[in-house]
Amino acid sequence: MSTSIHPARITQLNHGAEPGAGPVLYWMSRDQRTQDNWALLFAAELAMKRNVPLHVAFCLAPTFLDATIRQYGFLLKGLAEVETELRKRNITFHLRLGAPPASLLGLVQELQVGILVTDFDPMRIKLHWKKDVLAELRIPCHDVDAHNIVPCLVTSNKQEYAARTIRPKIHRLLDEYLTSFPDLPTVPNGNGSRRGDSVPPVDWDTVWKSLRVDTNVAAIDWLKPGAQAGAKVLEEFLEHRLEHYEQRNNPNAQVLSNLSPYLHFGQVSAQRVALEIMRSDKPAASREAFLEELIVRRELAENFCWYNQAYDRVDGFPDWARKTLNDHRRDKRPYRYDIKEFATAATHDPLWNAAQREMTQTGKMHGYMRMYWAKKILEWTPSPEEAMEVAIRLNDTYELDGRDPNGYTGIAWSIGGVHDRPWFERPIFGKIRFMSASGCARKFSVQDYIDRYCLDNCPPNSNHVHKQ
Ligand SMILES: Cc1cc2nc3c(=O)[nH]c(=O)nc-3n(C[C@H](O)[C@H](O)[C@H](O)COP(=O)(O)OP(=O)(O)OC[C@H]3O[C@@H](n4cnc5c(N)ncnc54)[C@H](O)[C@@H]3O)c2cc1C
Repeated sequence: MSTSIHPARITQLNHGAEPGAGPVLYWMSRDQRTQDNWALLFAAELAMKRNVPLHVAFCLAPTFLDATIRQYGFLLKGLAEVETELRKRNITFHLRLGAPPASLLGLVQELQVGILVTDFDPMRIKLHWKKDVLAELRIPCHDVDAHNIVPCLVTSNKQEYAARTIRPKIHRLLDEYLTSFPDLPTVPNGNGSRRGDSVPPVDWDTVWKSLRVDTNVAAIDWLKPGAQAGAKVLEEFLEHRLEHYEQRNNPNAQVLSNLSPYLHFGQVSAQRVALEIMRSDKPAASREAFLEELIVRRELAENFCWYNQAYDRVDGFPDWARKTLNDHRRDKRPYRYDIKEFATAATHDPLWNAAQREMTQTGKMHGYMRMYWAKKILEWTPSPEEAMEVAIRLNDTYELDGRDPNGYTGIAWSIGGVHDRPWFERPIFGKIRFMSASGCARKFSVQDYIDRYCLDNCPPNSNHVHKQ
């Protein structure tokens, strides 16, 4: 079988370690899907070459970076689909509970794993987990970039300044990396006993009961979790909304793809989405505008988080932005709110409140409103540090696509000028780009947007506003 996996997607994390004779284990973390997954394809290729079984493990932490039952539910339902699909390919799925490094190492030991494969992730917490695993691991561990179209480490070896600097680097490499995917093969049992045979199916009830997360943030029901549902969302986007994508900055137009939750959890591959967009017969201008967001902006965010591990702090801002924010640190704030007032949409500004409600009620704020929302948090908190904390906390608690490089980068762009340039100086913001409600009103009907989300009696997981 040739997976046509580009060798540059793969990085061996530990050198000198000798493979064992046992099965291959894919530690699935970020790319929670069975098709279009280069890490899984690579693990399958290794297992078949070595004539050993293939196992896949997901290590579930009982709490994770402000995630609530809303995000855990989306993840677990997607993983149940992964288990079913893997079984069809003779691949055993393990769901391990507890601190991921320890539970993974326990499984490596139990199965006498010969080679470990995992997926690339720029997030700090994932790097710490990998470091802890590698400190104990005696077999080779391969990291595969299955999330980016052009692997993050290939695109650039440094933090890029802006979209304009990374764009030519990505475009130059697209032909080489934007290739089609082979199907995931059925993996034979191979040599020796198939230790996974004795593994019972995951007891999902026990898994749900093990969670230690906030259950007050309701699940949403207008987006169904899982790869199959994600493929349907993509299909609907291609059919009905892509051609109107040029109206993407109008939150009333509802032309976005709604793919971010699926991309975040890796239930849908960005590369698959790009291939389908390119195949579409919709207007070239819409397709190009969408591919710019999906590829250039998304991979710019990966680049930022990978090369700047202070991605969620003021320390990660460019020098000019830190200086200008410091110069205006003592400026009088016209309004001040604490996190509870922000969370309950209790500010004086109906537009901001509507954006916050869109997020709490639907789990997904419109992309244009996210910029306005974050910038106002800077304006109405005592310091940029607190603004970062509040914005990240709310984003990661309520957005279904939260805890993503796109989120940390979007917030750092809004509050800290990351990937942006200095603008005219003004109070509080200094040279950071400013946004106002009147500016929004010049672009779209602010009142229509407010009306959609102003209802106090709007049920928490209302989907009426998202019916296309
Ligand atoms: C303050 C702020 C917070 C944000 N928080 C998140 C977050 O937590 N998670 C998240 O995935 N995105 C975040 N974004 C980026 C962007 O707003 C969302 O990706 C987008 O709104 C998701 O909806 P969609 O998939 O329907 O978008 P579409 O417009 O249909 O875009 C398709 C895909 O392109 C990518 N994309 C679109 N816009 C951007 C962008 N500005 N930067 C990087 N990639 C982009 C995403 O992967 C998105 O799913 C944030 C942006 C800002 C300014």
